[in-house]
Amino acid sequence: MNDEKVRVTVYRGSNQIGGCCTEISYKGTRIAIDFGSPLPEENTKELNITGLTCGQSAFDAVLLTHYHGDHVGEIGRINTDIPVYMGGFAKDVITAYKNHNHHFFADVDIDRIDELVAGTEITIGSLQITPILSDHSAAESFMFLIKAGGFQILHTGDFRLHGRYREELLSNVEKFGKVDLLITEGTTLSRKENDKDNYTEEHVENMFWDCICENKYCFIILSSTNFERFQGFSNCIDKYRKDKRPKGKYFVVDDFQKSLFEIAEKRLPERYQFKTKTTYAKNLDEGMANKGFVMLIRAGNAAHEALLRKYLEEYPSKTCLVYSMWSGYMDNVKLKRLTSLAHDKNRLRIIHSSGHVTKQDLIDFVDTVAAKNVIVIHTEKTKEMERLNNRISIEDGETIVFE
Ligand SMILES: [Zn+2]
Ligand SMILES: [Zn+2]
Repeated sequence: MNDEKVRVTVYRGSNQIGGCCTEISYKGTRIAIDFGSPLPEENTKELNITGLTCGQSAFDAVLLTHYHGDHVGEIGRINTDIPVYMGGFAKDVITAYKNHNHHFFADVDIDRIDELVAGTEITIGSLQITPILSDHSAAESFMFLIKAGGFQILHTGDFRLHGRYREELLSNVEKFGKVDLLITEGTTLSRKENDKDNYTEEHVENMFWDCICENKYCFIILSSTNFERFQGFSNCIDKYRKDKRPKGKYFVVDDFQKSLFEIAEKRLPERYQFKTKTTYAKNLDEGMANKGFVMLIRAGNAAHEALLRKYLEEYPSKTCLVYSMWSGYMDNVKLKRLTSLAHDKNRLRIIHSSGHVTKQDLIDFVDTVAAKNVIVIHTEKTKEMERLNNRISIEDGETIVFE
């Protein structure tokens, strides 16, 4: 509709975490934000939107906040003549996954994706959009500041305020002035985890430091694209190599992980440098046994499992497995198999913190940005939502009109 009103439609995300998609329209311009996959346990019914995934195209662009599958997993279904935007880092990560395993993003034409640059405003029809570098377990996650005439919308994407970049994010947000509408993620509102279990990334790094000081042989299970966590672990290894004996502790990853590290080092060198990374080869076995190591292992990799078994058998008091992901993923059969090997010998260590804003930080954030209206997505409906000021209740498929 070509009037002066701002319209916001939540197609999916008012009552589930994965696969959010929100439309913002103003003076005939229509954009959608994120087009990902639901989490496995959620309603996975295919999301079809006329003008976006079927019928004659009616959207001017789709903007993607970050590379997590629940935000980009279904972009291959977007009509091919609609421009798609994401950060250059995110684009490189998706390309790496596509090259690594042809099942990933099989239907996505990477060349159609235009790159967004943090802090650089773009204009799409009647809307001005600025991507803001955020703080999340995916590197280069964006919040979007969207100007529709004098009406300002802040779409948070996924974020938190206990990572290393919280201060940078908050200082950026303070510059916006008024926020007429905040569209925010609310993952932890509907999860059981306690705010106090969400440590800062610095605290996670300290826990890992203690762990590698106590365990000469340290296997880790961690999402390949959680670069901030990897950076913390890498810092610990560098420090160990400098200050502790034996010298030369290895940081062992596979070729795919190395290629992802190289993307991070190229795209955000001021944030990511993995100095001591080494790719595994048989001829390292003796050196690793002598000098100790931190090694990334993957569920379903038989060689990794064999190595973990060997060290747990031969050096039980010097070996541990660090599990550094959301506890919910541990229900996965292959992951369970690996973690139970260490758990049975009391050598499993959980060192983790959420990528999502805590309940209290979210309540405070709503007040910090002085949001006049708040729409919560990326959450299941819960009573906890009522703690947020100025919240508008919305259902999937519903449109709210702002005069
Ligand atoms: Zn995410
Ligand atoms: Zn998400």
